[in-house]
Amino acid sequence: MENLFYKIKYYFGTIYRGLIGRFHNIFDKAPAIKSGAEWYSLGDSTQGRNIRCYKFGQGEKKILLMGGIHGNEVGTVKLAHNLINWLCGNQLRFSNLTIFVVPCLNPDGAEVARQFPDYKHRGRIGRLNARDVDLNRNFPTTDFMSQTTWKTGRNYHDETIAVFGGDFAGSEAETKIIMDLIKKENIKNIIAFHNMGSDVMPVSGDAVAETWAQIYFKKAKFKIRYNVNLSGSLSSWAKENNIHYLTVEGSSRWGSDWHRQYKAIEEILASM
Ligand SMILES: [Zn+2]
Repeated sequence: MENLFYKIKYYFGTIYRGLIGRFHNIFDKAPAIKSGAEWYSLGDSTQGRNIRCYKFGQGEKKILLMGGIHGNEVGTVKLAHNLINWLCGNQLRFSNLTIFVVPCLNPDGAEVARQFPDYKHRGRIGRLNARDVDLNRNFPTTDFMSQTTWKTGRNYHDETIAVFGGDFAGSEAETKIIMDLIKKENIKNIIAFHNMGSDVMPVSGDAVAETWAQIYFKKAKFKIRYNVNLSGSLSSWAKENNIHYLTVEGSSRWGSDWHRQYKAIEEILASM
């Protein structure tokens, strides 16, 4: 009986979320990036799309903020566009920082998500890159696995889906491009935008990331989760390379979530 109740609730929840998703996707567009914002290409995706990087400031401390590692997480790219436009007017406030914003690491997946918006399944289509690799399982970590999983749904335990981490660690163009940027610029602070869950996941023991998580808790009412272990993730790679790292799971698949998150982002940048 309880199971039936859950199924009915889940069914109506799917319709509801689909409608909300459609609404956000249509009315909460990625804003055009202001003409003053300068970008350069970090390289080409598997299908030859530019992976753009916007750079602000020349301060000593460096931070990377990144969206669209999973192309289906449409809202993260919209969030990054809002962030770039906001930084255009506010970068002088963060003169001690160099801020890198990569709005979309997986433009090929994002294009698939744009063409086939998957409202019915909360937007699953487009997660992988053009070679069907989950980029957030492809980093060269000690726990890398080719055959791995994606846990989804409420509290990340409704469903476990098999995903491909790549033939070998760091096999994908997009993975190499972001690692090259991080190494070349010696970036020691990273925030990666995903969705959805309204929570943040610092690596336990990383005091800086824990401070950022507390800021998200305070400013955006996001929950804090620990010990989310994913093979070959950017999170694990950052930990192994002594980089402060926070995963942010936004509250909307299709919406920018900017109004929910920007105060947290602002305070984190100001705290550095
Ligand atoms: Zn994700």
